Amino acid sequence: MVVVATAITVGVAMPAWSVEVAAQPPAAVPDDTATSSSSVPAPGPGESTTSLPLDGEAGNESGGVGQTPFDLASRMTLLGELAAARGRAARLETQVLDELASQTPWLARRQDLLSGNDRVSQSERTNAASTAATRESLRRQVVATFVRGDRRQVLLGALQDPEAMSRGEVFLDALRAQRSNTLDELAKRSAGLSALATQLSSDLRPVEQALSESAARLNQLEVARTSTNAEVQAFAAGSHVYVPGFRIPVVGPVNFIDSWGFPRMAGTPKAHWHEGTDLMAPVGRELVAVEPGRIGRLGNDSGLGGERLWLIGSSGTEYYYAHLSGYGPGIVEGAEVIAGQVVGYVGATGNASGGSAHLHFEVHPGGGPAVNPYPLLITAWGSVSMPSEAEALAGPGPVLRPGEQFSTVGVEAPGP
Ligand SMILES: [Zn+2]
Repeated sequence: MVVVATAITVGVAMPAWSVEVAAQPPAAVPDDTATSSSSVPAPGPGESTTSLPLDGEAGNESGGVGQTPFDLASRMTLLGELAAARGRAARLETQVLDELASQTPWLARRQDLLSGNDRVSQSERTNAASTAATRESLRRQVVATFVRGDRRQVLLGALQDPEAMSRGEVFLDALRAQRSNTLDELAKRSAGLSALATQLSSDLRPVEQALSESAARLNQLEVARTSTNAEVQAFAAGSHVYVPGFRIPVVGPVNFIDSWGFPRMAGTPKAHWHEGTDLMAPVGRELVAVEPGRIGRLGNDSGLGGERLWLIGSSGTEYYYAHLSGYGPGIVEGAEVIAGQVVGYVGATGNASGGSAHLHFEVHPGGGPAVNPYPLLITAWGSVSMPSEAEALAGPGPVLRPGEQFSTVGVEAPGP
């Protein structure tokens, strides 16, 4: 990696290309040591490409003859990063289990309180029913006694026995009092139940609070766990960088293989190792920001990359998109973009001209030397089966057709 890195001239973006082209006149590759893509001005239209370094590629200063050997370390799995990510994943796993376990007593307490509440409600219903029944019973008793009493009164009056009549009234009073006591008891019981219900619901409040806080923590842990598992996957796949939320830069079905380090333009003065991934898709297919960030340099390099742009990701990783047919709405240098925003359209410009349309895509952690994008891409692609190159190029049809592009950039038809 070190050997290649010293030879990489990432300062000025010019891509790898997957199409072999006729040998070009020997180009003097300047010793451009700039490390930030955004710090170097874009060449103007028509500006000679011979003064530009091989953009993002393992450019070699001797121009093909005696090319720097391919750095095998650039393909090695970063075991330290992988182990660290696995460690974090394992800790998160433990934290999730601990958090779930911490909920158990709260859940039991809540269950108790809720069933207590149920019992109180049941008692309240019973109490209310007893109260209604007692009232009804009293009413009936009074009515019945009154009717009987009335008769008795008539009878007693007739018998001229005031003493017996008086005993009847005492009986009635006693009956009323008894029912009334029962009603008082029931009312007291109802008040007690109501106080108990209030107590239960105030006991329930901190329990619900604790459970809701735990759920929020669990949610955060789940998010971290998902991200960390993706990180483990990326490093396990051999990535030299992990970008949270990274997505495929081409919308729809694409085909790509791991072409990192493939020889390009062999036997020409510009011989170099491929330092990107070529994503095969028809001209006009949407290209999106792989993460949120800002558009760096953008424009035509009058040769190798064709229409191309840099995306400076908010994670600190920078991305190079080349061979575009056009740029997305509002995509200008310095534009802020969100992940998934359309930044351009697949094309076959630059050295891809005459070949199959594709996106040449590079990943530069911290704006430094390129790393293999394939592990990141294949991890983001997931387990969905990938169309063949022919299928990918065949459709679905382009989103943007020639003449419809948002930019003023000409669209080159894909080659045979
Ligand atoms: Zn390429």
